[in-house]
Amino acid sequence: MRILILGGTTEARLLAERLAPRRDLEVTLALAGRTSNPVPHPVPVRIGGFGGAVGLAEYLKAERVDRLIDATHPYAAQMSENAARAAALAGIPLLALRRPAWTPVAGDRWTEVADARAAAHALGAIPRRVFLALGRKELAPFVAAPQHYYLVRSVDAVEPPLAVSRATYIRARGPFREKEDRALLAAHAIDTVVSKNSGGDAAYGKIAAARALGAAVIMLRRPPLPAVPAVERIDDAVAWLDQPPDHPPDHGPASPVRGV
Ligand code: NAP
Repeated sequence: MRILILGGTTEARLLAERLAPRRDLEVTLALAGRTSNPVPHPVPVRIGGFGGAVGLAEYLKAERVDRLIDATHPYAAQMSENAARAAALAGIPLLALRRPAWTPVAGDRWTEVADARAAAHALGAIPRRVFLALGRKELAPFVAAPQHYYLVRSVDAVEPPLAVSRATYIRARGPFREKEDRALLAAHAIDTVVSKNSGGDAAYGKIAAARALGAAVIMLRRPPLPAVPAVERIDDAVAWLDQPPDHPPDHGPASPVRGV
């Protein structure tokens, strides 16, 4: 059986690791190509876009892909939409592997906003010391709020740098633990973290660190995603592959398949 995993997440890589040794499966993983030096994967990797839903559907047919797994980042809404349309066009089953969102717990000081532009606005007029934990392509709106100090962490360099007078850039790749993020936030006297609600453990360090230090979090809400069958756990995605195409996935109560 030929499987295409749409990747770019830890879960996609872990799923590929689970499937790579299986001789009954031929697995390819697709990456958008957002980082110049992606983490190695244990299956063949295809880098770059497909040319929208139609391009992806053509690829699925040409490569005779039997099943599609959308394990993209929860904010990669365009790709998830393309996956839903392409699977329908190509007539193959699709499963989304989606991390549950984080929810605030006691001690968290979250403000939820729609997007990066709204986050920049929500910082307000009074200068703050802000940790911008966003993708490097999402930073532009903060140029409109140059009164703040920004600490920016990204995998690849931010080129050109933001047109603000006070910013520090750090290059690093997760996972990031609470202890190191607490030290980072304290060293830069950060009072506000701007973050996506990525879910999972690898990026949670800064959220726990903000709570421990009493810092505010401006959280970008997740975009709406297409209503397709979805699971939260890698085990459930593997179980889905082991079912006949039209069989409802056998999943535990902790991680139901949602959608239609
Ligand atoms: P997007 O807006 O959903 O996708 C834009 C286009 O990128 C897609 O239409 C597709 O191009 C291509 N693409 C996306 N994922 C792909 C994949 N796995 N394989 C091949 N092509 C892919 O997603 P985005 O621009 O990458 O990012 C949107 C948000 O997700 C940002 O907030 C970003 O920080 C976050 N994010 C993304 C990734 C990632 O690996 N993509 C990882 C971490 C976080 P075609 O239409 O040409 O096929």
